[in-house]
Amino acid sequence: GIVVRGLTKQFGATRVLDRVSFEIRRGELVALLGPSGGGKSTVLRIIAGLEIPDVGEVLLGGRVATHTRVQDRNIGFVFQGYALFRHLTVRENIAFGLTIRKRPRTEITRAVDELLTLVQLEGLGERYPNELSGGQRQRVALARALAPGTSLLLLDEPFGALDAKVRLDLRAWLRRLHKEREITGVFVTHDQEEAMTLADRVIVMNKGRVEQIGTPEEIYDRPATEFVATFVGSTN
Ligand code: ATP
Ligand code: MG
Repeated sequence: GIVVRGLTKQFGATRVLDRVSFEIRRGELVALLGPSGGGKSTVLRIIAGLEIPDVGEVLLGGRVATHTRVQDRNIGFVFQGYALFRHLTVRENIAFGLTIRKRPRTEITRAVDELLTLVQLEGLGERYPNELSGGQRQRVALARALAPGTSLLLLDEPFGALDAKVRLDLRAWLRRLHKEREITGVFVTHDQEEAMTLADRVIVMNKGRVEQIGTPEEIYDRPATEFVATFVGSTN
């Protein structure tokens, strides 16, 4: 699981995170929900090791990881805007994490074949990202994040720029993947419906603070703050 304790982060004079704490259990799918600028991506980047907090710590699998390197954390990460490598084919994109880890070629081929099937992109392995639709590109990004055999997946607005149908397909796919592979997943969204329908638990963030943590039912039925009540659209 993931434990985040007292994360505080300042950029210049702006405090972006203010004592953010939460725990995510192994195998849980958790949504980080909140409005733009609330600090969601910053939290995810700190968990991934791409950013260091001013105060606080991150524990991964029970170990303090705050200062370990990104490549030692064995985390799959899909960035906001899912940047794929434009000059690499779909296969090469998915293989990237394995290639830099210098895994044997036969193992890489096998792993990529399996992932292409998993994300339903068989036959598109030799294409380049600009020859794919948005939903297909997003699935490549997800497959790439899964390639190093990670059990921890961090997704920053994974369904952001997609049309409604593709969003629904990908949501169902993520849900299934999470169940089948027992992957611990954290996804960022500012879409309350997406958080409520997909996540086991939801962490509501606003202005750098955690407003509430709970199951979708708890958050909907018993919002802890006025902000949560308004943002989640409860009538309570
Ligand atoms: P969005 O939903 O728009 O992606 P977010 O909740 O992910 O928003 P963050 O990206 O974590 O928000 O940013 C939180 C605040 O920190 C914003 O006000 C942002 O401008 C600021 N911020 C983020 N990264 C930096 C940086 N490297 N330097 C300065 N300010 C930053
Ligand atoms: Mg963000």
